[in-house]
Amino acid sequence: MKKHFLYSLCLAAIAVSTTASAADKLSALIIEGQNNHGVWPKTSLMMKSYLENSGLFTVDIVRTAPKGTDENFAPEFSKYNVLVSNYNGAAWPKKTQEAFVSYMKDGGGLVIVHAANNSFGNWPAYNEIIGLGGWGGRNEKSGPYVYFTDAGKLVRDTSKGGGGHHGPQHPFSIVVRDKEHPITKGMPREWLHVQDELYDLLRGPAVNMQVLATAYADKGKGGSGRHEPMIFTVSYGKGRIFHTPMGHGDYSQECVGFITTLQRGTEWAATGKVTVPIPKDFPTAEKTSQRKFGAK
Ligand code: ZN
Repeated sequence: MKKHFLYSLCLAAIAVSTTASAADKLSALIIEGQNNHGVWPKTSLMMKSYLENSGLFTVDIVRTAPKGTDENFAPEFSKYNVLVSNYNGAAWPKKTQEAFVSYMKDGGGLVIVHAANNSFGNWPAYNEIIGLGGWGGRNEKSGPYVYFTDAGKLVRDTSKGGGGHHGPQHPFSIVVRDKEHPITKGMPREWLHVQDELYDLLRGPAVNMQVLATAYADKGKGGSGRHEPMIFTVSYGKGRIFHTPMGHGDYSQECVGFITTLQRGTEWAATGKVTVPIPKDFPTAEKTSQRKFGAK
């Protein structure tokens, strides 16, 4: 009898401690449902797993209707420390747009990955929030092109032209431009990203935006010939935004550089700080590093 009582007490203690640790974690919401990238259901699961594996996050996924404006899409943004967009599709209902903008102004966190920056070319607040975007009718009216010259000078180029382009996929080097920012601190100055689309010629308001790392879009590989923003942050009201144009394919997201940047950037967007370490298998300037998703 006594033994049974102790056993029950023990189980109760385990239950309490599990609840407490979940409550201590940051909450993230991945938004998906429409995307011209057919791999999106998998990439959402990959990002969920990467964030959970950091030990810092609980992660929910919310899915819109597969086509058109989903009038029922109204997640409770304010329940979450950070939103992660894997969405590239039709406009959200007006009320949801307003709730999203209020959430950001009030100090919400947002993560923009790859084609999420193709969304909502005609929604001014969204474009200010994400800093830069591509396609979706973007042109000189959307804001400048932003890039670094070979000499390391940041340029805001207001010349005419469409926003958003990439050449054929290939592995490319990420060059850290700000080694003191919490997201990039401790990364090698240069590291080799696995095969991905190198987005170039993005454009947008680019206000309150800080470029932390770039990639050279080699003309010989169909690129712009510019050093394009690959890791950057934006502040909007009290909100924090971490944005990476990387992450086209599931293989691209298996890059340890991508995984680490996602974990750190999401933590930073949620809290303004980073505790996720740079792992031992982080890529170097010469060597990519990939973790096969689902492999033990
Ligand atoms: Zn893509």
